[in-house]
Amino acid sequence: MTRLRILGIPVDAVTEAQAVQWVRAAMVGGPPRQIVTVNPEFVMRARSDPPFRAVLEAADLAIPDGAGLLWAARRRKQVIPQRVAGVDLIHALAGEAERAGWRVFLLGARPGVAAAAAAVLHRRHPGLIICGILAGSPSPSEDAASSAAVRAARADLLLVAFGAPAQDLWIARNLERSGARVAMGVGGAFDFISGQARRAPAWMRRRGLEWLYRLSREPWRWRRMLALPRFVVLVLKGA
Ligand code: UDP
Repeated sequence: MTRLRILGIPVDAVTEAQAVQWVRAAMVGGPPRQIVTVNPEFVMRARSDPPFRAVLEAADLAIPDGAGLLWAARRRKQVIPQRVAGVDLIHALAGEAERAGWRVFLLGARPGVAAAAAAVLHRRHPGLIICGILAGSPSPSEDAASSAAVRAARADLLLVAFGAPAQDLWIARNLERSGARVAMGVGGAFDFISGQARRAPAWMRRRGLEWLYRLSREPWRWRRMLALPRFVVLVLKGA
């Protein structure tokens, strides 16, 4: 596995299939592992947010979840083979979990959303074991209760949807005591899987325009998404 740095932030040049294979290996032994889904917003945030940056540095697998990362790598003659969207990786992992019997816990999103996402995953993967669902809260005052719930459910794979950076900080604080083998921050993935939010059409995703679709659906994101042009400028300057 090749670990690149995009504007100083680690990104692993993995395909979806390699990421699944990596999780399979992580389930068999070794310490609990944290997966982060890096995109240009993550990179820009981490550059001015030392605690978030430290979490990204310490993460065991940093999947390339943004077309901008592939472009930035290409400019430096490096290759990230494909974009691996967190939501696509969840579907792939659900299939693997069904085959291998991993117990999956869904933490976060608005009440009812994770349960709706679980129903969709079950329809596609009838044998999938969803061992727990909890809306919870990213607030550290709730850490003890949420991590105890994950532990009690004997989760193997923990998906945390509190949005970045809260979800990734949550995992860094709680992975050990949660008992999960692998945990991944998944942003709005439960909203997408449940159908609460719609993903960009395939042609936009292929052209690396998912961010534009997102901005059109959720215009309140504009301020956060200023990170994208700033990212482009820094990459062009060769920072
Ligand atoms: N969320 C949550 N608790 C919070 C803040 C957010 O459960 O205190 C959930 C929210 O409902 C959504 C996800 O976290 O499902 C964040 O999604 P978003 O698309 O904003 O993720 P990001 O782009 O920040 O990674």
